Amino acid sequence: MEIKELADILRTKIPNGNIAVNELMSKHTSFKIGGPADLFITPTDIVQLAEALRVCRDYKVPFYIIGNGSNLLIDDKGFRGIIIQLCRNFSQVVVEDTKITAYSGATLAKIANRALDEGLADFEFAQGIPGTLGGAVAMNAGAYGREIKDVIISADVIDHEGNIITLSKDELALGYRTSIVQKNHYIVIKAVLGLQKGDKCGILERMKDLADKRRDKQPLDMPSAGSAFKRPEGHFAGKLIMDCGLSGYKIGGAMVSEKHCGFVVSDGTATFEDVIKLIEHIKKTVKDKFDVELHPEVRIITSNR
Ligand SMILES: Cc1cc2nc3c(=O)[nH]c(=O)nc-3n(C[C@H](O)[C@H](O)[C@H](O)COP(=O)(O)OP(=O)(O)OC[C@H]3O[C@@H](n4cnc5c(N)ncnc54)[C@H](O)[C@@H]3O)c2cc1C
Repeated sequence: MEIKELADILRTKIPNGNIAVNELMSKHTSFKIGGPADLFITPTDIVQLAEALRVCRDYKVPFYIIGNGSNLLIDDKGFRGIIIQLCRNFSQVVVEDTKITAYSGATLAKIANRALDEGLADFEFAQGIPGTLGGAVAMNAGAYGREIKDVIISADVIDHEGNIITLSKDELALGYRTSIVQKNHYIVIKAVLGLQKGDKCGILERMKDLADKRRDKQPLDMPSAGSAFKRPEGHFAGKLIMDCGLSGYKIGGAMVSEKHCGFVVSDGTATFEDVIKLIEHIKKTVKDKFDVELHPEVRIITSNR
């Protein structure tokens, strides 16, 4: 089906302003890389989301869900199909006693700041992770010894048949940077977090402390998707890469960060191919020198997936 035709069908259900044709994904990823998506939709509620999914199902159009695009490497050729973004448009946060229920598009920073306002502790670790709750559940995001698994009670997701199901923490099967959401391509709508009452000054102090640590150790001034590789068992990816002498190693506009070798950064001109080639070079060098396999943490999206 022609893209224009598909857009017209969607426009009868979803306001025009929430549908873009040939939207550059580089505008929606922290790596600033990614070509045009045929259609880019930002539903503001569950009805619009359900309509978009129904059209994808009825017309057999490939689709991919994104949040804040902070863990993505998208092909310069773009995406043939529909990218559905659940981010600030889909981000209500409700607090009830020590529980926070948030829609998947709420950023972790927004939830952490709300927790601070309400004097709720335990979410400080997530404040500096630049993603949404949906992306964080899918990835079981974590930092400084804590992860989403430690605070989540349940999540409402959409399954393959379009049903909304509630999954408990156990059913979410959260592991190191993985979850049932990722494995089964579920869509997170919202999640309930269980926090603890805490002292506001203490919470603020911990948030500031972790933010300082991040600023000191991570190349936050350059486009990236965070840690390029998962932590291999018994090692740190960044240390292995540094010990291979790859700090600052460049292919095109992609570079191993000199500040933190676990990060692949862009100098602003990196292409998809530059990053892929650099990732392959790092993997091979680390394998040859230390006999350790590195696996990308960043999600690589091509139209042929
Ligand atoms: C500077 C920097 C620092 C980072 N630090 C950390 C860190 O300390 N710890 C850490 O864990 N990560 C870190 N990351 C990576 C990233 O922020 C996390 O993985 C984050 O959870 C991704 O969320 P997102 O909304 O940006 O998801 P996206 O990047 O948009 O998507 C990531 C994956 O989640 C899926 N997804 C997104 N939303 C949904 C949804 N609603 N339902 C189902 N699936 C969904 C996507 O399909 C994709 O597979 C960092 C990234 C950067 C750029």
